[in-house]
Amino acid sequence: MKTEFNLLSKMNRRIVSLVLIFSFCLFGCPNDEVNEAGKAPLILISMDGFRWDYFDKTDTPNFDLLISGGVKAKALTPSFPSKTFPNHITIVTGRYPENHGIIANRMYDPVFDEDFYIGQGSAPVLDGKWYEAEPIWVTVEKQGQTAMTMFWPASEAEIMGVRPTEYFVYDGSITHNNRVDQILKWLEYSPSKRPQFISTYFSHLDDVGHSHGPDSDEVVTAIQKMDRAIGRLINGLKSRDMFDNTNILLVSDHGMASTSSDSMIFLDDYINMDDVRVVDWTPVAAIRPKVDVDSIYTKLKNAHPKMSIYKKGEAPERLHYSNHRRIQPITAVAHEHWSITTRTHFNQDDNARRYDGATHGYDPIYQSMGGVFVGRGPAFKQGFSGPGITNIHLYEMMCKILELTPTLNDGNLDSTRIFLQN
Ligand code: AMP
Ligand code: ZN
Ligand code: ZN
Repeated sequence: MKTEFNLLSKMNRRIVSLVLIFSFCLFGCPNDEVNEAGKAPLILISMDGFRWDYFDKTDTPNFDLLISGGVKAKALTPSFPSKTFPNHITIVTGRYPENHGIIANRMYDPVFDEDFYIGQGSAPVLDGKWYEAEPIWVTVEKQGQTAMTMFWPASEAEIMGVRPTEYFVYDGSITHNNRVDQILKWLEYSPSKRPQFISTYFSHLDDVGHSHGPDSDEVVTAIQKMDRAIGRLINGLKSRDMFDNTNILLVSDHGMASTSSDSMIFLDDYINMDDVRVVDWTPVAAIRPKVDVDSIYTKLKNAHPKMSIYKKGEAPERLHYSNHRRIQPITAVAHEHWSITTRTHFNQDDNARRYDGATHGYDPIYQSMGGVFVGRGPAFKQGFSGPGITNIHLYEMMCKILELTPTLNDGNLDSTRIFLQN
C-alpha cells in the first residue's frame, strides 16, 4: 500500500488527499473543523427591565468595557405592549406580538378556551402551541448549529418540534453566578458539542424597579449587581482566551416608569364589572365584554383623560396590535405613570400601596419604555454609539452574525447594519 502510494505521481497524490479530506468532511467530522476555524459563538443576554439610561446612574466598569470595545444604541425600543413575554419573544423571532401570538403576559385564547400566564411554574409557558413564530434557537438547531439556553422566556418549550440542545426550565432562585458559570461550562465543551448560540436572562433589576421605582437607590445597587454578573462572564471568557472571539449581545425587554396610588383609573366608576371579564389589568387592560361590545366601548371611550380605549382593530397602526384572536374586543391603555384597576380592589386590604412603585407595558412611544442594546465581539464595530433601534430587527441581525438564513419576520438587516463590522 505504502509502495503503491509512493508510485502515484505528485499530482495524483494531491487529488487523493483532496478526495480523502472531502469524504472525511462529508461523512462525519465537520463541526469540529468549522468551530475550530474560529466561528465566534453568540451569547444573548437579557437584563429584564434595564432602562436605556441606567448605565449613567452609577459606575459600571464591566458594561463600560463592553461598550468601549463594541457598540451601543441610544435605546432598544420595545414592541407594544412593553411587557416581558411579548418582547422577549419579539427579540428572538423578529415578529411583532400580534404575529408571534404572545400579545401579553396574561392572555385568553378563545379557540383553546385556555389562559396563558407567566411566572415560575407556569404550565402554559412550557406548551409550544402558544408560540406562532420561529425563535432564533429553533433556526439555529434547524440549520445544523447548536443552541443552549440558560433561561429565556419560552426557551423551555418545544416550539415547532424543536428545543435547544440544552435548556433549563425557569427557576428564579438560580444565582447570577450559577447562570454565568453554566455559560462558561458550555463554552468548554469539545468543539463538536460547543453551542454557537447561548442565551441567558436576569429578572433582578425588573423586580427591584417594580418595587422601588427607577430612581431609587435600590435600582442603583441592582445595576451594580448586574454589572458584576457581566464582569464574571468577561473574566471567565478572558481566562479561557475567548473574550475577543465571542459575540456578546446585551439587551433588555423594556424600561420602567414610576406609578403612584394618586394616579389611578377605576374601571368600576364607568362600567358594571359583572358585564366584562378583564383578562389582563394594568397598564394595558384586556377587556372581554359579556354583553354588547359597543355598550361597554361607549361607556369607556372618553371616560378618563389618561386612558386610551381601542376597539379591536382600531389601535394606532404603529402599535401593530390588531390581528390576533388573543387580542380582546376592547383594549384600555393607561398613559405613562397611570394605573388601571377597580375601586373595589384598590380599597381592599393593603392594595393601594401596590400602586406606589413602577411598571411597564405602556406605549413604546414613551422614552421611559426604552431598553438597552450593547454588542461586543468580532461581529460588531468597536467604540461605536448609534441611534435607537426597534427590537423587531434583532432576529435578522443574529441570523447574520451566525450565518443563518432567517425565516419570515417583521425586521430587516438594514436597520442594524450600522452596528456591524460587515
Ligand atoms: P413582568 O411581569 O412583565 O415584569 O415579567 C417579569 C417576570 O417574568 C419575572 O419576574 C419572572 O417571574 C417571569 N419570567 C421570566 N422568564 C420566565 C420564564 N422562562 N418562564 C416563566 N416566567 C418567566
Ligand atoms: Zn420584563
Ligand atoms: Zn416587569
